[in-house]
Amino acid sequence: MVNRIHWAKALAAAISNACLPWHCALCAARCRESLCPHCARLLAQQRIDCFLTCERCALPLTLPNASLCADCQQSTPVFSSCTAATVYNPLVGRLVNGLKHHRELFQAPILSDLLYTSLLRRSLASTRDAGIAAPIDLLLPVPLHPQRLRERGFNQALEIAKPLALRLRIPLERFACVRTQSTSSQQGLARAARTANMRGVFRCDQSVQQKCVAIIDDVMTTGSTVDAVAHAVLLAGASSCEVWCVARTAEPGAAPLRIKATRCEHKTAL
Ligand SMILES: [Zn+2]
Ligand SMILES: [Zn+2]
Repeated sequence: MVNRIHWAKALAAAISNACLPWHCALCAARCRESLCPHCARLLAQQRIDCFLTCERCALPLTLPNASLCADCQQSTPVFSSCTAATVYNPLVGRLVNGLKHHRELFQAPILSDLLYTSLLRRSLASTRDAGIAAPIDLLLPVPLHPQRLRERGFNQALEIAKPLALRLRIPLERFACVRTQSTSSQQGLARAARTANMRGVFRCDQSVQQKCVAIIDDVMTTGSTVDAVAHAVLLAGASSCEVWCVARTAEPGAAPLRIKATRCEHKTAL
């Protein structure tokens, strides 16, 4: 019955979107793309520069010549690196909230495109500066607990991963990892409390053995959720594990992340 209601709502939203003229997903201006040029430019200004952030968790670096932030030097995550497309800001927040809480599934390809562009820029920059980035064998969206999945009707990380897998031609593994426990809300908890809250929450099967895995998520705050997924993935025999997320937020209670100068500039129009 719950599933029927979900399908009915999804169908109604799809019909409504198909009948409406094409509008910018952020400002509702009429345009030919999912974002108008103005909003696309505003979002691009919030893009994270991979060379100015911690290579493990994508937080801005404050120490000169350091590759890891102070938090990661103290307690290093088990995943090898994190690529985040943008800092969490009101614009990307509206897209993410629309997807997660208002069933706006058409936002998923926009978020996926943000991530794709950042990965492309990182790959181009790596090729230029330090060799080709490590290949990835499969994409693994952060799974929801079955109860949460039933309530929401879809997994937002999976919806973001689908177009990314098609564009990158990398297999998408939606069943390899399961969330075995439903945790209480992580909001407002500091990194240590979140990590403790997430221990043993995920279980991964053998299909990731000997694979280089990229975990996909919408928003990364402390990184404790993706760290717990990475732990399960590596425990199941994966060769390596990195994180790709759309937006990176500051730790709870910390100042909001700010964008500095950008160095990942290329002549290619990205
Ligand atoms: Zn707009
Ligand atoms: Zn870090």
